[in-house]
Amino acid sequence: MEQTFIMIKPDGVQRGLIGDIISRFEKKGYYLKGMKFMNVEKSFAQQHYADLSAQPFFAKLVDYIISGPVVAMVWEGKDVVLTGRRIIGATRPWEAAPGTIRGDHAVEVSRNVIHGSDSVENGKKEIALWFPGGLAEWKSNLHPWIYEN
Ligand code: UDP
Ligand code: MG
Repeated sequence: MEQTFIMIKPDGVQRGLIGDIISRFEKKGYYLKGMKFMNVEKSFAQQHYADLSAQPFFAKLVDYIISGPVVAMVWEGKDVVLTGRRIIGATRPWEAAPGTIRGDHAVEVSRNVIHGSDSVENGKKEIALWFPGGLAEWKSNLHPWIYEN
């Protein structure tokens, strides 16, 4: 099964959205495999967003990510990378459909509450960066009620 890296950004934490966001992934039928509540160093934020280092908004983005604690998580499940992105909604909140996290809870692209890996490959890289110590091993007893196999 696929894994994705999800991070509740500092605005999501400050606005009390942690529970709502975790609930959406939990209720869907995905498994939480790792979770940390932490402040991020500037160099670490730069590393996480290294692919965007040439973008004009890069410095502001890094300052945003280090402006308060974040919730770093790994979620596992069938098609969780793409479906996770659909649960999150479009990058620009005004383009995010109602019912998505960003569609329901965000206004500005620079305050868009949550990060999710955009491909299986990037998910692997991000999980290795954020969870070098590995992940929890478990499977829900409800597994057969959610997944056919
Ligand atoms: N971002 C921004 N201004 C922009 C585009 C992106 O501040 O014009 C921020 C925004 O917080 C976004 C993050 O940079 O979530 C990473 O951008 P990406 O294109 O990877 O969007 P995402 O994968 O988060 O939807
Ligand atoms: Mg991205």
